[in-house]
Amino acid sequence: MGLARGLNLQTWTPATGLRKLEDGRWEVATPRGTVVAGKVVVATNGYTAAILDRFRGVIVPLRGQVTAQRPGSGMPFGGCLPTTYSFIYEGGYEYMATRPSGSLFAGDVVIGGGLGKAEDGGLEEYGTTDDTSVNPTISEYLRGALPRYFGSNWGEDSPEGRVRAEWTGIMGYSPDGYPFVGEMPGQEGLWISASFQGHGMVLCWKCAEALVEMMEGRDGEELGEWFPEVFRLTEERMGKRFQGRLHTIAPASKMEAAG
Ligand SMILES: Cc1cc2nc3c(=O)[nH]c(=O)nc-3n(C[C@H](O)[C@H](O)[C@H](O)COP(=O)(O)OP(=O)(O)OC[C@H]3O[C@@H](n4cnc5c(N)ncnc54)[C@H](O)[C@@H]3O)c2cc1C
Repeated sequence: MGLARGLNLQTWTPATGLRKLEDGRWEVATPRGTVVAGKVVVATNGYTAAILDRFRGVIVPLRGQVTAQRPGSGMPFGGCLPTTYSFIYEGGYEYMATRPSGSLFAGDVVIGGGLGKAEDGGLEEYGTTDDTSVNPTISEYLRGALPRYFGSNWGEDSPEGRVRAEWTGIMGYSPDGYPFVGEMPGQEGLWISASFQGHGMVLCWKCAEALVEMMEGRDGEELGEWFPEVFRLTEERMGKRFQGRLHTIAPASKMEAAG
């Protein structure tokens, strides 16, 4: 729909630099040339600090790891456990969903996490932006997780092998656990929507909508009715530094980290 309305999509084209011109517009450098615009939206999530230095230590990349595993013979036929699952334990957690009936690889169990099982609680995964490889310790843990969680209910592994696929992806974490949405303070025309932690699927669409409302000058009462104030990009929030993932640390230190 966007393309039909004239959107020019340049894939495989990293923005390598961003600078304000004397006339107030912004210049975005890429290996295929430069683009100049009055308004620029930076939606680079965990990679934001690479082009906007002010986000160093503010939006921190964290690599997450996921597997898709063929269901054991004891799992429900051709489909889906009725809910999604979280397995939360001291020092970490896993999250799990099954591919629904009628979908490609129906019944496959998609399970991710295992960060807390890596060396130093997964410390090495913070600041990592390489999603072309996997962490072998997490890999080993996730590959064995399902028979451990389901016990005898798992049954026998599929004759084709348990693990169908495994991958990593980069998330963007902020000091207070909320995304940054809005115009960069003191940088007219530079708009941000980034840092969705592990929850962007449910947040980034409406954040994009809110950002457009702001960009078009409709930042009033109506937006205030549904858009959380705590998501707004403010100088005060930019002054905080990432101290750790908030939902994996105890409440007392959580307050300290957010403060
Ligand atoms: C392992 C894992 C599990 C997750 N599980 C869940 C979940 O269960 N529920 C949930 O809600 N969310 C989950 N998420 C988070 C969710 O995927 C993200 O929050 C969401 O994808 C954020 O969308 P985005 O478009 O803002 O950023 P991204 O999807 O990260 O996209 C950013 C894009 O910017 C591009 N980019 C970066 N730098 C540049 C540059 N300089 N120039 C040009 N392009 C650039 C990148 O290539 C990328 O395509 C998970 C993420 C991971 C990695």
